[in-house]
Amino acid sequence: MLTKATAFAWFNNAATLMTEHKHELHLLDAAIGDGDHGINMDRGFSKLIHNLPEMEHLCLGEVLKQTGMVLLSNIGGASGPLYGALFIKGAATVGDAEALDASALLTFLDVGVTGLITRGRTEEEDKTMYDVWAPVLRKYKQSLEAGMGMEQILEECVHAAELGMKATIPMLARKGRASYLGERSIGHQDPGATSSYYLVTALYESIRE
Ligand code: ADP
Ligand code: MG
Ligand code: MG
Repeated sequence: MLTKATAFAWFNNAATLMTEHKHELHLLDAAIGDGDHGINMDRGFSKLIHNLPEMEHLCLGEVLKQTGMVLLSNIGGASGPLYGALFIKGAATVGDAEALDASALLTFLDVGVTGLITRGRTEEEDKTMYDVWAPVLRKYKQSLEAGMGMEQILEECVHAAELGMKATIPMLARKGRASYLGERSIGHQDPGATSSYYLVTALYESIRE
């Protein structure tokens, strides 16, 4: 179950991963963008962690929505509004539920990611963070239908996210700053796909804990 406590753990884990991988995200974005993705993600998640005590009294749906607002305004760049949309649109599916089971978490992610791609006007193989979320959602649905529990589903999703992230390397970027490079974007891993992989990893870790 994803409860408020698990959601807080998810964000703490994500903040740790973004700080640990700040330099890696910087280098990836320096290669095909403007080099700020590490700073952007670290700033957004650090601010979120800083604000968590204030969210203590909110219900789960409100926590997820607030999270989207904090990420939207503190990550900045192209990726802030996209991560913001994921959480804000996803949160609208939560209602007054105190916990999400595997099926409700799928709905949250599915609707959230639809918000992300609507905002980004992106599709698969554009070499963006969606190249992680699309295979993650497919794997999630498959694993849920196969009768797996949340922990096992998310473990499968981490593998799918890693493959999706690596699959961006040979792609030609068609969205965002990397698209300005045309053919020269080929051969580099997408920074947003990489931070999305860490976000999925952090979610899995919070459920496993
Ligand atoms: P900026 O490019 O404004 O500096 P960031 O460096 O924080 O923003 O984020 C770049 C990442 O955002 C890219 O690696 C890509 O994954 C993602 N991205 C950019 N534009 C789009 C889009 N239209 N749709 C989906 N993802 C996008
Ligand atoms: Mg950038
Ligand atoms: Mg930028």
